[in-house]
Order: sequence, then C-alpha cells, then structure tokens
Amino acid sequence: MELYKENQLKIYNSLTKSKELFKPLKDGYVGMYVCGPTVYSNAHLGNLRTFMFFDVAFRYFLHLGYKVRYVRNITDVGHLENDADEGEDRIAKKARLEQIEPMEVVQKYTVDFHNVLSQYNFLPPSIEPTATGHIVEQIEMIKIILDKGFAYEVNGSVYFDVLEYNKTNHYGILSGRNIEDSINNTRDLDGQSDKKNPQDFALWKKAEDKHIMRWPSPWSDGFPGWHIECSVMSTKYLGEQFDIHGGGIDLKFPHHECEIAQCKTWSGKDPVNYWIHTNMLLLNGQKMAKSTGNFILPGEILTGKNTILSKAFSASVVRFFNMQANYRSVLDFSSKALEASEKGYIKLMDAIKNLDQITPSKSSSIDVPSWRKKCYDAMNDDFNTPVLISHLFESVKCINQLKEGKEQISPDDLSVLKTTINAFVYDVLGLLNDVKEEEPSKADGAIELLIKLRKEARDQKNWALSDQIRDELAALGVQLKDGRDGTTYTTN
Ligand SMILES: [Zn+2]
Repeated sequence: MELYKENQLKIYNSLTKSKELFKPLKDGYVGMYVCGPTVYSNAHLGNLRTFMFFDVAFRYFLHLGYKVRYVRNITDVGHLENDADEGEDRIAKKARLEQIEPMEVVQKYTVDFHNVLSQYNFLPPSIEPTATGHIVEQIEMIKIILDKGFAYEVNGSVYFDVLEYNKTNHYGILSGRNIEDSINNTRDLDGQSDKKNPQDFALWKKAEDKHIMRWPSPWSDGFPGWHIECSVMSTKYLGEQFDIHGGGIDLKFPHHECEIAQCKTWSGKDPVNYWIHTNMLLLNGQKMAKSTGNFILPGEILTGKNTILSKAFSASVVRFFNMQANYRSVLDFSSKALEASEKGYIKLMDAIKNLDQITPSKSSSIDVPSWRKKCYDAMNDDFNTPVLISHLFESVKCINQLKEGKEQISPDDLSVLKTTINAFVYDVLGLLNDVKEEEPSKADGAIELLIKLRKEARDQKNWALSDQIRDELAALGVQLKDGRDGTTYTTN
C-alpha cells in the first residue's frame, strides 16, 4: 500500500490562512507549480531557501508514493524592474549593460541557476517551461480575457481592469488587501501611463522602438506582462484547476493576486486549491542587499570565499540549517548558526555510521514503531521539518545507547529504524554525507609528535620525561588519555 494512504497530510493554505487536509484533485496524483527565477542575475540565497523547501515537499510527496508533476518556470521576459509595470525589462536591461543578446543573459543565468541547484542536491522539476517559449499561449489567454470584458487595449498595450474584476470578485483575496485601501494609497499616474487606474496591470506591453525583446500580437509588436506567463504555464501543464501553487512570500502581491484574477476571468474557476508561501531569509539579522555588502551567493558558501562566513560549509549543512527552521518563519542566516547546524549534522551522520555496528537482540527495549510514526506526523503537519529533525536527534541518542549496549533492539525494529532514517535523511531532506573531515592543524601534528616521544620515553622507562610531557601538555590545556589502542587527547 502506498504510504500516502496511511498519511493524512495537512498543508497551511495561505489563501484560507489555515491548515487543511490535503486532498489532491486526482487520487494519487499531485500537481504543483512554483514560480521560478527571473534569470537576469546569479541565483540568490533567498531564492535558494524557497526552492529548497519546495524540493523537500516534492521529495516528500514522491516518498509517500504520489505521482507528482512539479512545474517550475523560468522567467526570461516580461519581469520589469518595478512590479507596477514600470521601468525596463530586467533581462533587456542586463543585455544592454553587458552589450550582449538578451538570450545570452538568459542562458548564462539559467546555467548558473541549474549549477547551484545541482550543487545543493535538488531534484529537477518535471517540467521547466520558459515564458518566451509560451508567447502564443499568452496571447491566446489575453484575447479571452479581453473578450470577457476584463481587460482593455490602449495604444497597443493591454491592461487588466482590476476595478471591473473587483465588482464580481475580491481582488486581494490572497494578500488580504482591499482595493479601497490601495486606491487611497496609490499616487496619481500623472498622465504618464495608459492605464485607466493605477491598480490595473499589464497583460501585454507595446515595445518601444529600441526594445529588442518583441513579438507580433494583434495589438502591437511587444512582449507579455510578467503575471500572465505563470497563469498560462501552470494551467497548460496542470489544468484549469490544480493542487498546489507555491513561491516566496514576496510574490503574494501583486504577482499571485494577479494570477488568480487572470485565471478566474479566463476559465471562471479558482485556479489553485492550496497556496504555499515561504518566508524571508535574513543575513546576520538584516535584509540581504548587494549595495550594503550584506550579501552572499550560494556558491560562495561552499568555497568559503566570502567576507560573511568564518569558513566554508557543505551543501548538506546549508540544507540541514534551512530545514531546522519552519518554512513559514523568518530565517536568519549567519556563521554562528551554520556552525551549530554543522555540529548537529555531523552527530547525525556519525549515528548513521554507527547503525551498521549494532547487533540486534531478541527483543526491543525501545519503541521504534511509535518513533517512526512521530517522524511521519511531523512531516504530515505542514512539512514540519524542525520537528522531524528533533525526532531524528532522538534516534541519534538511541543509536548511541544501543551501541553501548544500554538498550536492545530486535532485528525487525533495527531494519525499520534503518529504513526510516535513510528515507528521511537522504530521500526526503535530500542530505548527503558531504562534510569533509577537517585537516589536522599544525598544533595537532605537534601534539602527536609529543605523544610519540612520550611513548619512546616510557618504552625506555624514562618516567620522569614521560610525566613531564604529560603534565606540561595538561598545563597547556591538552589532556592525554592512555588506552588499550594507544594514547588519545582532548583539548579545552
Ligand atoms: Zn510566477
């Protein structure tokens, strides 16, 4: 029996602001759309957090036995500098500044994005469609919205009529905004714009003469607005209605609000059953910004070549750190926090290694089935990875006690323990055993040398010298411990 049949997954739906039992539209199948990157610059650490959470959600659905179609798009046109349809297209601007083709910008940063994701052990989505690959479909959707009277054309551009939509729908249903508030808070358009109202958003923009990225349409040579691509690509691959739509919290408004409005006018249906939004990532307690230097790229964490962190960290430590926080909480990224995660992660990996050294007994003194259930319960509670990790640490304690012979485990329970740990650590959380053993420092080498000299002194029964080495090392904070397999040391 598939695991999903015995696991009641609950998802926090941003639309209803409550945890709801997850019921897919089609039994055994999950359709999930996540807004991907705008490929005009290197992959951002905040984006990494968002995509990492959805990678773990994707992995958990797969683990439960669902057939998942996971669609994550690439925005390669139409995302303007300013969300209110102002400014230059981000990709066209970069192309102008670097004096290269827009598609070279797209290629360069798509490759970078894929590299970073593979460094961090992401599973590829089922489909990764691009906005420029779906211009025809976007034009078709705009035509229908126009026909239904929820959009208007001005000077070759087409805008969505938010006030018209709001007469029969609630524009702001997802973000909790009220159209009246936004009317009062938005400045006048100073006659600069073709829009009837400042709340309206572009479905199609007429390209100015110099604009390179342009396609023919019934209205003008131009390019699509940013929001329409996601409505088109999500419904094309997942249907007019689908299970899950995700993204970073900053996309809730206006992007996702606009997606709902477009789809509702186009098909007459609410497109998404469960909206999931991931919270922000801070760096050292502050917003990340290139301008202030409070900024780090995902690749720079792995090499250690940066001015923010004390050392390099492995991809799995970064993953582990991310998963120790709930995706709906703000997460503060810092060297200290990563160091703490690294310690915990190493403990977990050591315990997994020790699992192979455990000899089973006839019966168990520990309750493995109820521990296993607690792990699933944690993930079933809106993908609560920090609680899952606390249960994994419980098993670390158990494994160490089993190894020392303080607890017993039956062969069946041992097999369940191994399968469950491997499933959650590797398949669901997507961790790898990738922490490099630290290279011994020069001080370690010098201590080893003194231990060797002390052994020679002892072999020659030169107790005075051997005691002197031991005592003077102790005075420096290095404690020697003589055991059956030789002398080890600890430092304080
Ligand atoms: Zn989107």
